[in-house]
Amino acid sequence: MEINQAAPKFQDVSIAPMHTAEHILNQTMVRMFGCPRSKNAHIERKKSKCDYQLAEAPSAETMEEVERRVNEVIDQHLPVNIDFMPLEEAGKFVDLSKLPENVSETLRIVRIGDYDACACIGTHVNNTSEIGHFKLLNYDYADGRLRLRFKLTE
Ligand SMILES: [Zn+2]
Repeated sequence: MEINQAAPKFQDVSIAPMHTAEHILNQTMVRMFGCPRSKNAHIERKKSKCDYQLAEAPSAETMEEVERRVNEVIDQHLPVNIDFMPLEEAGKFVDLSKLPENVSETLRIVRIGDYDACACIGTHVNNTSEIGHFKLLNYDYADGRLRLRFKLTE
């Protein structure tokens, strides 16, 4: 499991919609490409970027599909549930195999409906209906790294 070691600014409520969209994007990338969640996201209120490790460049059609699927999840108006769980219970929702050694006994698990679950200390919206919509601005691929930039629209 990747713990989202959120920077302090992730506590900023103004980026909660962006950051919650990031969770959905991460899960969508995991499902479509089998890649890990983004390890270096830069989340800003107006524009964000995430990097993913992919073996080859995705087609333009595939990237359109990423955008379509993220919006499909958002449009389900899924509840975002945040629960503090002991490790054993958290293991039902997230993969504990990649936990850092010094992890605490209790994890803060953020779940977006049944679509995504991850441990995160950041600030999130309460329902995906608060996100707006996900717009993929552009992307580039080089040396096994896909970098995509996105914003939120109404
Ligand atoms: Zn988060």
